[in-house]
Amino acid sequence: MNQYLQQDIKFLGGVGPKRAELLNKELQIYTYADLLNHYPYKYVDRSRIYSIREIDTTLAYIQLRGKITSLIKEGQPPKERITANFSDGTGSVKLVFFQGLKFVETNVKIGIEYILLGKPAVFNGQISFVHPELDEANKYDGGITSLLQPFYNTTEKLKRNYIISKSLQKTIALVWQNFQGNIPETLPETILQKANLLPLHNALFNIHFPQSHENLKKAQYRLKFEELFFIQLDLLYQKNVRLSHIDGLLFQTSGEYLNTFYKQNLPFPLTEAQKRVVKEIRKDLGSGKQMNRLLQGDVGSGKTLVALMTMLMAAANGYQSAMMVPTEILAQQHFKSIQKLLLGIDINIGLLTGSTTKVARTKLREQLTDGSLHILIGTHALLEDVVQFKNLGLVVIDEQHRFGVAQRAKLWQKNSQPPHILVMTATPIPRTLAMTVYSDLDVSVIDELPPGRKPIQTIHYFDSKRLMMFGFLKKQLELGRQVYVVYPLITESENLDLKFLEDGVEAFAREFPVPKYQISVVHGKQKNADKAFSMQQFVSGKAQIMIATTVIEVGVDVPNASVMVIESAERFGLSQLHQLRGRVGRGVEQSYCILMTSYKLSNEGRKRLEAMVNSNDGFELAELDLKLRGPGDLDGTQQSGLAFDLKIANIVKDGQILQYARDIAMEVLTSDPTLSSESNKMLKINLQRTKEHPVNWSVIS
Ligand code: ADP
Ligand code: MG
Repeated sequence: MNQYLQQDIKFLGGVGPKRAELLNKELQIYTYADLLNHYPYKYVDRSRIYSIREIDTTLAYIQLRGKITSLIKEGQPPKERITANFSDGTGSVKLVFFQGLKFVETNVKIGIEYILLGKPAVFNGQISFVHPELDEANKYDGGITSLLQPFYNTTEKLKRNYIISKSLQKTIALVWQNFQGNIPETLPETILQKANLLPLHNALFNIHFPQSHENLKKAQYRLKFEELFFIQLDLLYQKNVRLSHIDGLLFQTSGEYLNTFYKQNLPFPLTEAQKRVVKEIRKDLGSGKQMNRLLQGDVGSGKTLVALMTMLMAAANGYQSAMMVPTEILAQQHFKSIQKLLLGIDINIGLLTGSTTKVARTKLREQLTDGSLHILIGTHALLEDVVQFKNLGLVVIDEQHRFGVAQRAKLWQKNSQPPHILVMTATPIPRTLAMTVYSDLDVSVIDELPPGRKPIQTIHYFDSKRLMMFGFLKKQLELGRQVYVVYPLITESENLDLKFLEDGVEAFAREFPVPKYQISVVHGKQKNADKAFSMQQFVSGKAQIMIATTVIEVGVDVPNASVMVIESAERFGLSQLHQLRGRVGRGVEQSYCILMTSYKLSNEGRKRLEAMVNSNDGFELAELDLKLRGPGDLDGTQQSGLAFDLKIANIVKDGQILQYARDIAMEVLTSDPTLSSESNKMLKINLQRTKEHPVNWSVIS
């Protein structure tokens, strides 16, 4: 890297140690290079100046040229503000400042000609601009200019310290003006040619100082390509390493256990999708390479059965399996249902969770080390060092987004040879996102629900229809069905949320009194034993209503439950709503999901609810979720670390560039798998470098 670019920003004119520290902290900008890599998030076309008469309030940012005719301070602290009158001869508008009043008072002057930039809005029938940008018209030129003015992200804290978009723009211009020579290229000439990309130097110049719309487009394309390309190259490179350097355990046969199970125990015919996935897995296991497969399937699509069949294959080849699930409830449920499914088959299954007794633990440990235990089902407890297997051959991870890569690696270390890995998820991941994040995994999809399921009917009620909702529940309960009621529980406001849940419990208890009705309550703050007891009450049918937080989101299976009521549904993400809804509709009866909300809904919230009412397709909803919220906020992704910071590419909008970048990365690695040719060496170096400021991969499975 160029030495100039590696300099600390505190040495830069107009920055200094104090502002440098702020930039370090707030935007992770340390060096000149970091500044150049802080791209604008939007551009405003400054080639046109409007007259006030022309203003139409549907316009986005516009420019005016005129003078301030009056300036007054109004109100008392802390509600002080400054309002000004701005006129250009064709009319006048109002300017309003709430913040930085001191700055406005000392710098904004009456009678001087300004270029104003801002977004018009109407307040009290008058066209107003809140916090417009003002530049003295005669000082407007100078420095590197461009007609498209870049806007840079800052933070509240930076703004309070007068580091606004404009100051970043100036600082970046300064770095560029003082820079001698060319920014070193990061992609080989062959790729630049082939993909028709601007050289990096040129692209960076145009991203900060676009000289035309066309140049800007080309610059954006180049930088998006590069960003996505290195992610793909990294993932595919790692996959290569895995496939070429690590031998996998070879499972010669699918074996007798599976055969017997298939012929005698299978309670229903497999769906075509289940069959296909089992075949894909069988092929992996017989390949001599380590399997690393992601199984995606909507809630209720029957992933557990696939996992079980895979574990039976492992057992037949003399290997043990571990199945790791995120919650104790789920572990117990899997343990019981798998035990039931394997009735009469000579397979030894164990359950290990936080609440397994010491005596039971000791016994499990013995059976694990002498090899007599075939399948161990459990929670995080499986990761403890004392849990040692004789010959672990397969790890199944259910609902993967709760487990991290580090955790997976821990299981991996329990063996001299890495076990096969099957990661299952019911959080459908849009194709483009899957491609980015799971490039290293092979993906199987169960895209079919078992036959005979009636699509769940989803209804949205405002809180005013609560009585109708109660009435509906009563009818369902009379038919012998069971009901879930879910309250949001989000960590920041746990105590508050818990109160909502408790109030809810009270209200339901009044409406559905004992002894006619039994209500069980489950939430994350309960002791495990209490939780298990409440859960059991509901599973056994002794309780008709379960009031819970999202702890029931994952995997709980009570086919007789036919109604899911989600309180404050506007507070949930789309994928999470869909997950919760998936707790019903598991039996033969018609099921319902009732989304309760207040009248206060954001636009986006309204769209989410509409989508839920209109679609039962998890993949479709995931795509929409991604569009509505962007990848950073996608459900499950925050926990899973999918929320990586792409600097310029957008996974939703740039799917095509992503696909192309992936193809090129694949080509490069096919012809030079170790990236050691003279022209590819730079790729290897840059790959290393992108990892120094890594995306938060640490928690991705
Ligand atoms: P998920 O994919 O959400 O983990 P499960 O494995 O819990 O789904 O399966 C949901 C329900 O569907 C279970 O009650 C299971 O017994 C049932 N099931 C699974 N496969 C089939 C099938 N092929 N035909 C009918 N029911 C099935
Ligand atoms: Mg499941």
